[in-house]
Amino acid sequence: MSSTDAEMAEVPEHCPGTQSEKAGKAEPCDGCPNQKICSSGKASIPDPAISVIAGKLASVKRKYLVLSGKGGVGKSTVSTLLARAFAANADTNVGLLDVDICGPSVPRIMGCEGEIVHQSGSGWSPVYVEENLSVMSIGFLLDSPKSAVIWRGPRKNGLIKQFLMEVDWGTGLDVLVIDTPPGTSDEHLSIATYLSKANIDGAILVTTPQDVSIIDVRKEIDFCKKTNIPIIGIIENMSVFVCCNCQHSSELFPKTSGGGEALANEFQIPFLGRLPMDPNLTRSCDEGKNFITDSPESPTSKFMLNLVNNLK
Ligand code: ADP
Repeated sequence: MSSTDAEMAEVPEHCPGTQSEKAGKAEPCDGCPNQKICSSGKASIPDPAISVIAGKLASVKRKYLVLSGKGGVGKSTVSTLLARAFAANADTNVGLLDVDICGPSVPRIMGCEGEIVHQSGSGWSPVYVEENLSVMSIGFLLDSPKSAVIWRGPRKNGLIKQFLMEVDWGTGLDVLVIDTPPGTSDEHLSIATYLSKANIDGAILVTTPQDVSIIDVRKEIDFCKKTNIPIIGIIENMSVFVCCNCQHSSELFPKTSGGGEALANEFQIPFLGRLPMDPNLTRSCDEGKNFITDSPESPTSKFMLNLVNNLK
């Protein structure tokens, strides 16, 4: 058991939450060390962690969340490409934060799997993969990449909170890209709550063109609206195919089928475009390489570099 596991062990399962009228009075509260404060109503005052996290991120100039309604649509791929594309400018200091507690794939894609997180007086220091690009993943803290999958909600939320509070980004970070878990789960709500005072610039939503993904992105849009997260726009991933040899692009899904663009129009949010599917990118992610600098002429790299330019 890691030290983080040990600290989370005290959180009662099925905790009704400090904002609930049952706080401190529900059955799972019996024996909880926080029962007294929760039943007194004092716990419903905002969690001090929210201000601590806001303070930790205060000097970061721009902060983007990457969200998707479903797993497997390319959310982590977009997060990592976005970070790499920002970092392609040597004058931009970039951080990539992976809070995808049940599927932290960022360390693998960024080629830093198995790195040990170092602790200093001011918190956990991220891992540097380039001089101007640092990575912090919840995966660095888990005993195994799958260990959080079987945890109950309060324990996951406790780890997310501790993680966001402890990471020390130092000063001088220009951009922070945050990869989140897919969907609109409890963990999502925790992330939105803990980051609520951190001045997030907005969310980039990732979807594939198929209806199954689009339906879930609708929920994601609703989630952003309810939690006051501005939406920067929607990226439609893998609707266009780029040949690895001749770089010719072909449409796997005709534009007329709607997909991300129709959804963006419906909700009057910007459509950021179609990120082409490129088998070389899949390989590059599996091998932890930098696709943006290795294949700058690929339509997929150009898409990301152009996106980053437009975000400035
Ligand atoms: P998610 O984070 O949404 O679960 P991932 O980013 O892990 O999804 O992507 C799932 C798989 O699809 C990975 O193997 C990734 O390399 C691949 N992939 C995602 N987007 C692309 C793309 N545009 N071109 C090629 N492969 C892609």
